Amino acid sequence: MKKILVTGGAGFIGSHLCERLLNEGNEVICLDNYFTGSKNNIIHLLDNPYFELIRHDVTMPFFIEVDEIYNLACPASPIHYQYNPIKTIKTSVMGAINMLGLAKRIKAKILQASTSEVYGDPDVHPQPETYWGKVNPIGSRSCYDEGKRCAESLFVNYHKQNNVRIKIVRIFNTYGPNMHPNDGRVVSNFIVQALQDKPITIYGDGSQTRSFQYVDDLVEGMIRMMNTSDDVIGPVNIGNPGEFTILELAQKVIELTGSKSTIEFRELPEDDPMQRKPDITKATELLGGWQPKIQLEDGLKNTIEYFRKLVL
Ligand code: NAD
Ligand code: UDP
Repeated sequence: MKKILVTGGAGFIGSHLCERLLNEGNEVICLDNYFTGSKNNIIHLLDNPYFELIRHDVTMPFFIEVDEIYNLACPASPIHYQYNPIKTIKTSVMGAINMLGLAKRIKAKILQASTSEVYGDPDVHPQPETYWGKVNPIGSRSCYDEGKRCAESLFVNYHKQNNVRIKIVRIFNTYGPNMHPNDGRVVSNFIVQALQDKPITIYGDGSQTRSFQYVDDLVEGMIRMMNTSDDVIGPVNIGNPGEFTILELAQKVIELTGSKSTIEFRELPEDDPMQRKPDITKATELLGGWQPKIQLEDGLKNTIEYFRKLVL
């Protein structure tokens, strides 16, 4: 039995990861400050004697003895990470320093939940890990993008300088149950709007693309990455290469919910990337043939069922 710390464990992805790690027979310590996460996401795990919940902010030092750390603490939706941009940078950068310092001291393995946002608004398509990205360092997304880029640099340098065993995964747009209904991300927004027959809000003309990954595929990829040999440090893209325009997503959600919603076009936010699609060659090679298994339509159906219970 391994002892595993999951920061941001009460959030959308963290809650799925905690559950899966517990089911595999590990002891899981979930650390969260509940900024965007919720106890409701992990309430069903609280009776399990091998699960512990700790309210803590990763910008402050923390000490615990564990074998592995998954560092997920950070708001991920543009609305939430732009709400207090300085805090977002502190969470990414000071959170990484605190967790890497902990990993160094207790000799734990540590995985960083990085993001496709490190590629910014890319002019290489699809994006391989070798692409350095096109990020506006002073734009409204920079608190998140540059925070995550700095965290990657910290991870790599703790590895080089202090031999910390690190793993970096770059996560592409992920969706599924436990997303917050007011999270502001596109999949949750569209499903909640469709279930309420409210207008579907498309920012811009809807021609921008994203590649949507169901959360179970991501969790599988993250755990496989953590279990690779020490020489595999990443970064490794984890995403579903199926690419859709935002307009196509809106139409699919309307169809699957049987909604009467109309489509409303709104202004495109600053620096909104025009295209996103992971090159997953490296993940497939390094993670034992890992590939996303869940098609958009099936993943959307599960997510719609989750929101139907929550919203209606
Ligand atoms: P989320 O907002 O649901 O989860 C983030 C969790 O971190 C929340 O529970 C929040 O309360 C917690 N948190 C935030 N600041 C904290 C702090 N200072 N101290 C302690 N806890 C804090 O988002 P998510 O989608 O589950 O994302 C999890 C991680 O994966 C994030 O690091 C995010 O950047 C990364 N990621 C997610 C996606 C995606 O599409 N969902 C894509 C790329 C990267
Ligand atoms: N988007 C949209 N309507 C919404 C929410 C988002 O058209 O109600 C668009 C957004 O402008 C972006 C895409 O959907 O082009 C994905 O947005 P999200 O915030 O989910 O993720 P990110 O931009 O970080 O990839």
